[in-house]
Amino acid sequence: MGAGALCPFCEIALGKCAGRTSSILFQDDELLAFEDRSPSGSKHYLVVPVEHIKNINSLRGDEHALLVERMLKLGESLLRKDAPGAESYKFGFHRPPYNSVSHLHLHCIAMPFKSWWGAVKYKSLGCLGGWITAEEVLRSLSSSTKSS
Ligand SMILES: [Zn+2]
Ligand SMILES: [Zn+2]
Repeated sequence: MGAGALCPFCEIALGKCAGRTSSILFQDDELLAFEDRSPSGSKHYLVVPVEHIKNINSLRGDEHALLVERMLKLGESLLRKDAPGAESYKFGFHRPPYNSVSHLHLHCIAMPFKSWWGAVKYKSLGCLGGWITAEEVLRSLSSSTKSS
């Protein structure tokens, strides 16, 4: 990405591509939620921090643990409201380099998957091998805090 160019999720956060993106479900100073453009479940939302954080490898300790926790809570409340009959919900991140956009985003998916492809894409042992659940991220953030 060239200098000065905004990443697609920063553009959404700044309201610069209102026409291009699907509707924004939630926005405050810290977080933003919108629909995934190619949903893998009956509902598929993305929750992103307004601040440009590159990916899960950029997360550090307490401060980010709180952020991820808030992202997860927001995703849960949106899915509970919009997909109350879902069989279960899935919350997680793609590990780099398998993330499609380099701006931290939590995938929030109401099960079941729409296709076998979705099932592969969002499983930790799928052929893309790059899925990590929000709980695992939170666990690793809190253990890194303890050891430091
Ligand atoms: Zn960004
Ligand atoms: Zn992703």
